[in-house]
Amino acid sequence: MAARLGMSVYLQDREQALAKTALALMSECGVTPTPDNFELFYTYASGRNPAMGQVIDAMISARRPFTSDVLEDLRSRCLSSARTTQAIDNASTGVTDTLSAILGKLEAAGRDAGDYGRTLSRASGELGEEQSPAELRKFVDTLIVATRTMEARAASLEKELQHSSQQVNALKSQLDDVRKESLTDALTSVANRKAFDGELVAAIGDARESGETIALLMCDIDHFKRFNDSWGHQTGDQVLRLVATCMSENVKGRDTVARFGGEEFAVILRRTSLDNATKLADQIRAFVQSKKLVKKSTGDVLGTITVSIGVARSCEGDTPASLIQRADACLYRAKRGGRNRVVNEDEPADAQIDAA
Ligand code: GH3
Ligand code: MG
Ligand code: MG
Repeated sequence: MAARLGMSVYLQDREQALAKTALALMSECGVTPTPDNFELFYTYASGRNPAMGQVIDAMISARRPFTSDVLEDLRSRCLSSARTTQAIDNASTGVTDTLSAILGKLEAAGRDAGDYGRTLSRASGELGEEQSPAELRKFVDTLIVATRTMEARAASLEKELQHSSQQVNALKSQLDDVRKESLTDALTSVANRKAFDGELVAAIGDARESGETIALLMCDIDHFKRFNDSWGHQTGDQVLRLVATCMSENVKGRDTVARFGGEEFAVILRRTSLDNATKLADQIRAFVQSKKLVKKSTGDVLGTITVSIGVARSCEGDTPASLIQRADACLYRAKRGGRNRVVNEDEPADAQIDAA
């Protein structure tokens, strides 16, 4: 008990020290002490999230200001994955606890059944001998009591197991939600990089088995930095959502639209020729360009945005990296060629350089 008390005092001291460090840092960096910002800096001070630590360290040493956009970005990038990990931990602890409770109940039920079996064998052994009616009656009574006890225990076990199975189902659906969340990009709701990586490995594997090709689109928003600089990061985020929606609206269910990173998106098209993939890419390009952007809060007309897209098809011996690299090279050529265009890997390179 004393040891446990010592441990909790230690933890409390450490948490207080972390909270003080977090608050001091926030004040040094001119960060408003809201609960959200506190969570961010407390996590930073604890060192629990090394990736986030690196970003904040770099910002502090470059004396870059923690604007509300930057803070929002850090929270959505760093804390949501930490929350997902925590949710997975909670759900798996729940599953482990429920399973050990079930095992405990089953062991107890096994012991009860053993006791009951021994009562029956003792009774059958003794029944072979000469019995007076009174002794017979006593045996029967013993057996009735043992059987009723057994019945009651079986009924209660069944009820408990039903309850446990409901708990396991609830935990399963909780884990499903967490799994979906861990594969979804929090900002745009399309597949995230992790989901994309898994899907591309699977699609290349399928293509190898079936002998069909897959196509990969790499799409990058044109002059997005300029857009952010003019209209702010938050409006930029809305544009990222819009582009993701434009892409999702143009592909079929078996295809995967993913946020590859920053302002780059990728689409994996299964069983699709280079020609059809190029047509689809151009459809997406034109669809994005057709959207007139207006800032809802102010009514400001933001103009239009455009995207450039590179298209590659899988070939024998492709790895995810080699396919991405070819689609990326085409994207680069689309940028060099003047942006707001689609380039596929069959187009001669020289034509693009001439146009640049
Ligand atoms: P290019 O046409 O050559 O692609 O020019 P660009 O300005 O789009 O390219 P660059 O790579 O120079 O800049 C990408 C910009 O994308 C920088 C960054 O501000 C912005 N960006 C990346 N991720 C996000 C995000 O999550 N939200 C917002 N709002 N902007 C982002
Ligand atoms: Mg880019
Ligand atoms: Mg760009």
